[in-house]
Amino acid sequence: MRLSTYFLPVMRDTPKEAEIVSHQLMLRAGMIRQSSAGIYSWLPLGLRVLKKIEQIVREEQNRAGAHEVLMPTIQSADLWRESGRYDDYGAEMLRITDRHDRDMLYGPTNEEQITQIFRDGVKSYKELPRNLYHIQWKFRDEVRPRFGVMRGREFLMKDAYSFDISAEAGTVSYNKMFVAYLRTFKRMGLTAIPMIAETGPIGGNLSHEFLVLAKTGESQVYCHADLLAEALPDEGDLTDSELQGVVDRWTERYAATEDKYDQAEFEAAVPEDKRVSARGIEVGHIFFFGTKYSEPLGCKVQGPNGEMITIQSGSYGVGVSRLAGGIIEAFHDDDGIIWPASVAPFHVGLINLKAGDADCDAACEMLDRELAAAGIDVLYDDRDERAGAKFSTMDLIGLPWQVIVGPKGLKSGEFEVKNRATGERLSLSPQATAAHLKSALADVL
Ligand code: ATP
Ligand code: MG
Repeated sequence: MRLSTYFLPVMRDTPKEAEIVSHQLMLRAGMIRQSSAGIYSWLPLGLRVLKKIEQIVREEQNRAGAHEVLMPTIQSADLWRESGRYDDYGAEMLRITDRHDRDMLYGPTNEEQITQIFRDGVKSYKELPRNLYHIQWKFRDEVRPRFGVMRGREFLMKDAYSFDISAEAGTVSYNKMFVAYLRTFKRMGLTAIPMIAETGPIGGNLSHEFLVLAKTGESQVYCHADLLAEALPDEGDLTDSELQGVVDRWTERYAATEDKYDQAEFEAAVPEDKRVSARGIEVGHIFFFGTKYSEPLGCKVQGPNGEMITIQSGSYGVGVSRLAGGIIEAFHDDDGIIWPASVAPFHVGLINLKAGDADCDAACEMLDRELAAAGIDVLYDDRDERAGAKFSTMDLIGLPWQVIVGPKGLKSGEFEVKNRATGERLSLSPQATAAHLKSALADVL
């Protein structure tokens, strides 16, 4: 992508309305623009990140056996009256009336909708278990939308719903999502710790929130330090008991958000030198709530002896748009964002120090073509701009690698390759540059 033709409205100064670093950097890097309180447009660079995050979430959901659907944003109020939640949900629900005076709403979540779909589509226990998910915009009229996309009113969520014949089978579905979440966040470079959680208005009894530690997190969290270094099992399918083993390993040590925290319990469970007390960002939340929705909505299947059995369900959310901010909270420095390669909007920023110079142009274009052929996304700064402005833009938008091409280096046949995270710089021939980048990015191509 040539920067000269791209839409990247970067800002030099820190916008006053942004309190936390991820919000400031998303605005400065031209990723988002506010439309109204808690509602944002995603500009080209931001949308690329959002799509990368979404795709990792999707791949891990698919790998865990869930099937993607797409439900509408607008739902009928009647369905929510059936579950009893229409009145309970309160002021966070955006209620709409259509031209025929029918009560509608902008979905804050989809338990009712998916339960209705499932109820009408499944007859027998033989069709269980199933897990359906979608990645769709939600609306919650938050009292205090703030921190940019971290607490928006309109936000993108992945929500999955499991359907099982028994609570025991439901636990297996829950465990699958638990492990899928660990893998999902790890692929984004994040250490997300599952913590025992309150179930809130959605209800139920088995629930974990996944929190990423960051100074600006909205939740106070307490956990055992070893959880930060806990390793995940290798990829590949796990048996039910292996799954349970992973979940046990992650849940046997103390980890709780302020809602569930108990000081005496924490101190008894964790030796003093292992006590972590920090701020955290909730990036995911999983619930097993049994028959909470299937009961009122009559979601049943026929069992092996012809009897009707009420389905056991759980729901599993990931804050896809919140993650874009959360990842920046975890990875930035004074100069800007430092994207993990897996979610970076482009892999490489190619800086032509003398755009218009035939040799510099040719060298850049050749590298751009070679990297593109290897599946590497390059943002090529071919603008006629000062070097300083080009460097600071590249640092600000945080692409993992920079390649700097100028007349001086070209004379000795060398490009400068900079690692954005470490600041390390190498002088490499054009061939070695391409080889270096291909191997450094091999994991994410
Ligand atoms: P919170 O406690 O942060 O208000 P919640 O418990 O109401 O969130 P869930 O219903 O568990 O949220 O939603 C699943 C995920 O969606 C959350 O873990 C979070 O990552 C994300 N999310 C929830 N509310 C928002 C919001 N207002 N803006 C952005 N992401 C959100
Ligand atoms: Mg929650």
